[in-house]
Amino acid sequence: MIRFDNSYARMPDGFFARVRPTPVSAPALLALNDALAERLGLTPALLRSAEGVSVLAGNAIPRGAEPIAQAYAGHQFGGFVPQLGDGRAVLLGEVMAPDGARFDLQLKGSGPTPFSRRGDGRAWMGPVLREYLVSEFMAAMGVPTTRALAAVGTGDMVWREEGGLPGAVLTRVAASHIRVGTFQYFAVRDRRDALAALTDHVIERHYPDATGPLDLLNKVVARQAQTIADWMSLGFIHGVMNTDNMAISGETIDYGPCAFMDVYHPDTVFSSIDRNGRYAWAQQPQVAVWNLAQFATCLIPLMGDEEQAVEDATKAVHSFGPLYQTAWQQRFGDKLGIEGAPNQQLIERLLTLMAQQRADFTRVFTGLAAGTARDEFTDRAAFDAWARDWQALSPDMATMRRVNPVRIPRNHRIEEAIAAAVAGDMAPFDRLFDAVTHPRDPRPEWDDLSRVPLQSEVVQATFCGT
Ligand code: AMP
Ligand code: MG
Repeated sequence: MIRFDNSYARMPDGFFARVRPTPVSAPALLALNDALAERLGLTPALLRSAEGVSVLAGNAIPRGAEPIAQAYAGHQFGGFVPQLGDGRAVLLGEVMAPDGARFDLQLKGSGPTPFSRRGDGRAWMGPVLREYLVSEFMAAMGVPTTRALAAVGTGDMVWREEGGLPGAVLTRVAASHIRVGTFQYFAVRDRRDALAALTDHVIERHYPDATGPLDLLNKVVARQAQTIADWMSLGFIHGVMNTDNMAISGETIDYGPCAFMDVYHPDTVFSSIDRNGRYAWAQQPQVAVWNLAQFATCLIPLMGDEEQAVEDATKAVHSFGPLYQTAWQQRFGDKLGIEGAPNQQLIERLLTLMAQQRADFTRVFTGLAAGTARDEFTDRAAFDAWARDWQALSPDMATMRRVNPVRIPRNHRIEEAIAAAVAGDMAPFDRLFDAVTHPRDPRPEWDDLSRVPLQSEVVQATFCGT
């Protein structure tokens, strides 16, 4: 039923631990992504059957799967941890889609593994449904991202600071789950052989044109510059940009306490554990460079003459700046329907006005095409002065409507959907999913989902739920 070809399970010793998901008491399907199932060549009806749900819960292992937990290390908030690894996830295997594309199929929240440390290996419904909604919105907007195939309730309680919460398992789909931290795991152990094998694997799988480690580094830097520019253009804040949460494929990965800004401010942070704002919205490009420098450090032993290698790797990491700058100008230019590069000042003037007047990030850009942006500002005269200069450039409305979502998964709506799901009602989740996976469709019945949160609805902090 599922066509597996598990290339990672063929990697040398030390890359992973073979481990089976731990069965759950009462699997119940919460959500299934039919479109993604079909993309993978899977039959939605089969996944919905009792047998399918038991696979999605980790209670049955499908034929051809070779479940493993992957080893990785990582810098968490700047501090290096030599061993992290999949502590609450199991890679079932790699699915070959009908078009030949290879995808990891991973169960997240599937029970303890040799990498769990003190954790229980479980997830509760909140983070599972948050990741489901946010990653699928990103995919709908064309942002490189892991995907969500299914969410299953486990029937078991998970114990967190907040008390007992209903457990869930997310089926995550990714180009791969190889992270900067995967390279760090072998680099810190001086396993040059393993680093070389990992590099070959990554080149073959994600960057077949790369001519070697340096070229790979350049290509990873270039992809990350695009992904981060995408995040910025949507007001997205990842929240935990640790090196173990940065995918080599360039996909957005490990949605934890992530969120989209309502009111625009560059210093916005949601994550309850990010007390110093290390991963605030405006910090994300710099953090990406920092993470990529860690990746570069891992590759240096594979790059020949050390002095030359350091020089080349440094140059590669620094190429992020101009690549990102160009991508940023392109994204924000498109958001305003104008040429970005020559109009950087105009873009920045708007962002400054938005920050000063606490304007809603999403509504301003949609409003510019709809003629309602002015309503988002308190000092209308200041906005009008900016708008005259912008109008003088004859903005292209079609581009604006293509790139600016009418709605995003707003934090308060995600929380509302989670609260209902915990109470047994999936209707708000289903509706929000439908609306955010059609983010450009101005359907009036979804107008309430475009509205800003009332003061009482504003979500101040998001939690990892780990
Ligand atoms: P994350 O916050 O998802 O980036 O996770 C950081 C590390 O903690 C990874 O190694 C995870 O596998 C591990 N981890 C997070 N939550 C749990 C949990 N409930 N049980 C076991 N390991 C966990
Ligand atoms: Mg992680």
